[in-house]
Amino acid sequence: MDTRDEIRCFVVGDLETNCYAYVSAGECLVVDPGASGARIADELGDVRVTQVVATHRHHDHVGGVRALVELTGAPWAIGEGDAADAVRALEISSHDFVALRSELADPPEPDQLLREGDVLEVGTARFRVVETPGHTPGGISLLGEGSAEGVAFMGDTLFAGSCGRTDLMGGSWKQMSSTLERLAGLIDPGVTLLCGHDPATTMARELASNPYLQPGAWRPSND
Ligand SMILES: [Zn+2]
Repeated sequence: MDTRDEIRCFVVGDLETNCYAYVSAGECLVVDPGASGARIADELGDVRVTQVVATHRHHDHVGGVRALVELTGAPWAIGEGDAADAVRALEISSHDFVALRSELADPPEPDQLLREGDVLEVGTARFRVVETPGHTPGGISLLGEGSAEGVAFMGDTLFAGSCGRTDLMGGSWKQMSSTLERLAGLIDPGVTLLCGHDPATTMARELASNPYLQPGAWRPSND
């Protein structure tokens, strides 16, 4: 990643979701504003948010989209396969929102539906969309290119030492196992992985130690 670019992380909501702001050449891409959209806009201050994207449809990744796009005017995007359920994310979540109700809302209809190979541009950085179904049917990861070479946003697909749950609505271990197998071959070991929860890691570390990235883990199970 170019040293002139900057990544900021806001931990939002009661599931402690990592919301990232990638700032490059006066533009800013916000990834996964899961709650507290107004606070995120406030903390970004003069930084111009030019694009909002959610890696998947779960409420803890889209719950702050509405406030953020209303305050900034930025368009927002999500994977095509998750769009229909994203706009009713709170309704279909089994989570209890009582403590956070005021900081969450269903997002508006997305401005753009993302598919494999689409590219989001922010300043001198580009992020290439990789479809990563398994945690949800339409989940995506974003691989940095240009000045963002060497970083990737993983959503809830891959975590340090773990991977995303497949037992929630629309989840599939069969899809997750092929997604993980593909990512293991696709992402360079030197890439820093920015995950939807928990600390960042690197692909090298995960290839060496993440049990879900070992070849034996890719057997499809009974779903
Ligand atoms: Zn999720």
